[in-house]
Amino acid sequence: MHELAIASSLVESAELAARQAGAGRVTQVFLRLGVLSGVSKEALLFSYDVAARGTLLEGSQLIIEDVPVAIYCESCRAEVRLPGIQSLRCPRCGRLSPHIRQGKELEIVGIEIEVEDAMKEAI
Ligand SMILES: [Zn+2]
Repeated sequence: MHELAIASSLVESAELAARQAGAGRVTQVFLRLGVLSGVSKEALLFSYDVAARGTLLEGSQLIIEDVPVAIYCESCRAEVRLPGIQSLRCPRCGRLSPHIRQGKELEIVGIEIEVEDAMKEAI
């Protein structure tokens, strides 16, 4: 499954970042997911739980922010958001635009961690 491979690499890079930060556990991962990324959100959420098993991310939550498509329209000279992914026409003037400005994102923008050592020191 396509999404499982993506989830595995997300888990891998989040775990690496968490270890570097001295985390004992990751509780949340924040992801920006463009609607043009070709990734199914539901499949990704499911795969994430599978991929997270046995890692610092086990039991953590994947929080996905949907990123809509935006194009740059040369006629309107503006960046415009599209209501869907069916066509890349400017909703204002109807012109097709080859300039996709956003909507292909697949990136971790943050993680929330628990630092075990700090907690032990506090006790
Ligand atoms: Zn336009």
